[in-house]
Amino acid sequence: MSWALIPLTEEQRAIQRTAREFARTEIAPQAVAWDRDGGFDRRIVQQLGALGFLGMMIPEAYDGLGLDTCTYLVALEEVAVADASAAVLMSVHNSLPTQMILRYGSEAQRLHFLRPMARGESLGAFALSEPDAGSDAASLRTQAVRDGDHYVLNGVKSWVSHGSMADVILCMARTDTSDERKGARGISTFILTPNLPGFGVGKKEDKMGLRGDPTVQLVLDNVRVPAANRLGEEGMGFIYAMQSLENGRLGIAAQAIGIARAALEHSVAYAAERKQFGKPIKEFQAIQFKLADMATRITAARALLYSAAAAKDRGEPITQFASMAKLTATETAMWVTTQAVQIFGGYGYVKEYPVEKLFRDAKVTEIYEGTSEIQRIVIARELYNRT
Ligand SMILES: Cc1cc2nc3c(=O)[nH]c(=O)nc-3n(C[C@H](O)[C@H](O)[C@H](O)COP(=O)(O)OP(=O)(O)OC[C@H]3O[C@@H](n4cnc5c(N)ncnc54)[C@H](O)[C@@H]3O)c2cc1C
Repeated sequence: MSWALIPLTEEQRAIQRTAREFARTEIAPQAVAWDRDGGFDRRIVQQLGALGFLGMMIPEAYDGLGLDTCTYLVALEEVAVADASAAVLMSVHNSLPTQMILRYGSEAQRLHFLRPMARGESLGAFALSEPDAGSDAASLRTQAVRDGDHYVLNGVKSWVSHGSMADVILCMARTDTSDERKGARGISTFILTPNLPGFGVGKKEDKMGLRGDPTVQLVLDNVRVPAANRLGEEGMGFIYAMQSLENGRLGIAAQAIGIARAALEHSVAYAAERKQFGKPIKEFQAIQFKLADMATRITAARALLYSAAAAKDRGEPITQFASMAKLTATETAMWVTTQAVQIFGGYGYVKEYPVEKLFRDAKVTEIYEGTSEIQRIVIARELYNRT
C-alpha cells in the first residue's frame, strides 16, 4: 500500500523498515500460535523493548527514544499488519501507563517506574474498566481509602489488556466516596505492582479475537499501596485517564489500519491467484471494485490519523480529531476485513487462511478505548464546545 500521501522523513522511513522487518520475521510466524493458544510468548516484550518500541515517545533522559507521535504510529502500524495482539500490547504500554507517568508522575516515579518501562524491562497496563463500569467509566466502584501513608484498595478491575503479564498497572480507584454525584472528580490513579499483597489476577477472558494479548480481571483485596504511588493529585485520576485515552485512540486507529492493510494485501494476492470461470477473480469488476474501495478507505483513514497525530505533535488540542481518527480507522478495519472474507469466499471462513483471524481481530477495535458510539458522542460534543 502506498504511503505517498504521508510525507515520511528519512528517520521515519528507517524506523518503518526496521518495524516491518521485525514484524515479518519475529511476529508474523508466531501470530497463529498465539491466537490458537490464547497467549503470547513473553519474549515479545523483550524483543519490542530491545528495539526501543516500548519507549518510543519517552524522552531520552528516561531511557526512551524521544520520538514524536507520527513516528511511533508508523512503527505501530507495521506491527499491527503482522499481529493485532502484539500491536495492542505496544499501543497500551506506549500510550497509557508510560505517558501517564511521564505527564502526571513525580520525578521519583519517573525514575523508578518509567525508565525500566521505556527500556522494555517492565510492561505497563491500564486498569480503568470494571464489570459494571464500561462506557460510563466514571461510575467505577473500586475504593481507595487513605490509611496513614498508604491507601487500601478494594475492588475488581475488568478487561485489563495483558494484566496478567504487566509489571506496572495504572489503576483508577475512588478516593472520595462522600458523594456519589462527585463521579469523575472523586477518582484517583495509583501505580500498582503485582507483588503487592492482596493483588490477584482473576478470570482470563476467552475472546473472539486479539487472543494473543491476555485480557484479565484484576482482583484487589485490601491492597496496601504506598501514598507515594498515587499519580499526581488526589481526585484527578479520571481526568488523567481521559486525557491519556486521546493518545490511546490514535494508537488503536493505527492498529486498525494495520489490520485492514493486512486484509487488503492478502486479498490482492488471493484475487490474482484464485481462478473461477476460467480466469483469476481479480478480472471480475465486482472484485476490482471491492479492492478499490478497500484501498481508498484505508488511505483516507490513514490520512486522517496522521493529520491528527501531526496536530498533537504541534501541541494542538486533538480530542475531536483523535475520536474521528479512531472511529474512521476502526470502522474501516471492520468493513475491509468483511470484504476480505467475501473475496476469499469459503476459504475466508476457515482458520487455514489469514483473513478469518483479521476479521475477528478487527472487531474489538470498535469496542475498546471507547466504543464507536462513545467516539460519536465525543465528536458531537466537541461541535458544541467550539461554538
Ligand atoms: C479485548 C478488550 C481489551 C480491553 N482492554 C482494556 C484495558 O486494558 N483497560 C481497560 O480499562 N479497559 C479495557 N477494555 C474495556 C473496554 O474499554 C470496554 O469494553 C468499553 O469501554 C465498553 O464498555 P463495556 O464493555 O462495559 O460496554 P457498555 O459500556 O456496557 O456498552 C454496551 C453498548 O452500549 C453502548 N453505549 C453505552 N453507553 C452509551 C451511550 N451513552 N450512548 C450510546 N450508546 C452507549 C456501547 O457503545 C455498546 O454498544 C477492554 C475491552 C476488551 C473487549
